[in-house]
Amino acid sequence: MLIVMEHNATAAQVRAVQDAVEAMGLQAAPIPGRERTAIGVLGNQGYVDDTAIRNLPGVRECIHVSKPYKLVSRDFHPESTVVEVGSLKIGDGHPPVIIAGPCSIESPEQMLAAARIVRAAGAHVLRGGAFKPRTGPHSFQGLGEKGLKFLRQAGDEAGMPVITEIMRIEQLDVVCRYADILQIGARNMQNFDLLKEVGRIRHPVLLKRGMSATIEEFLAAAEYLLAEGNSRVILCERGIRTFEPSTRNTLDLSVVPLVRELSHLPIIVDPSHATGKRSLVGVMSKAALVAGAHGIMVEVHPDPAKALCDGAQSLDGEGFSLLTSEIRVLLGYLGY
Ligand code: PEP
Ligand code: MN
Repeated sequence: MLIVMEHNATAAQVRAVQDAVEAMGLQAAPIPGRERTAIGVLGNQGYVDDTAIRNLPGVRECIHVSKPYKLVSRDFHPESTVVEVGSLKIGDGHPPVIIAGPCSIESPEQMLAAARIVRAAGAHVLRGGAFKPRTGPHSFQGLGEKGLKFLRQAGDEAGMPVITEIMRIEQLDVVCRYADILQIGARNMQNFDLLKEVGRIRHPVLLKRGMSATIEEFLAAAEYLLAEGNSRVILCERGIRTFEPSTRNTLDLSVVPLVRELSHLPIIVDPSHATGKRSLVGVMSKAALVAGAHGIMVEVHPDPAKALCDGAQSLDGEGFSLLTSEIRVLLGYLGY
């Protein structure tokens, strides 16, 4: 439930409402707004009887929110969240962010070459996986901490923040030591223990949609992070499993405008894992930005034919710089 206070409600009236909520055994989270304060009610199982609240002085209305996510919803938090990573701002009112780099960190040379390519083309954040969730156990599993060092060195040399995936709670310390943004991958979107732990730290988090997750499940997963106190969350649509085998996944672009309606969190799109095909990555990147995505994450490898992972969907330097030059033109049309 969301309790909306009158615009002239006093601090004492807000406090009295909080006390009344807590007396019901629930938590009250005040949400100060430009016009008026609202109080989010958390911890209820099902409908909350509002008779003890709705007639208290200063209360304008009680809105019943039945969604499994509240902190993530626009009902509770009408203002868009902008996630800051150093001087970079990701969210409404800021130019879309471009995250790029290889699927996996393979060597210092590969990472440095990738960093130089993506930096020169105008990317803002460098990606690279050190802990890789591979479908089969015989595939390259990533370089672990050694890889994180190569990623950090390449990011520092190119002057870029870096993002990498965390798969297990035990990796939290090491990943936080090297990365500016933590990625929770599609396969871990509902790893609730991991979400809770990552919610307790203050690093920005990129949460990818699970391949068979509904939008409600996706937002409920993000709720775990916010419920633990970490609201620096960026959502990422990366395609879902459908009956269609011609693309690796099916890019659900309508999720972008829908999530922007339902939630205050920024949302970006990963066209590489969504399509699995290099030839489709550019056009779907542009489509994502037209749909209102706050950014894209694209796999780029200095030599995709030799990539240890996801070469078929990776752009090379030339392909990526062509894409970013097209994006610059597009952003002009979009008013950036
Ligand atoms: C990745 O970004 O490297 C990745 C494994 O993506 P996803 O979790 O979306 O499959
Ligand atoms: Mn990949």
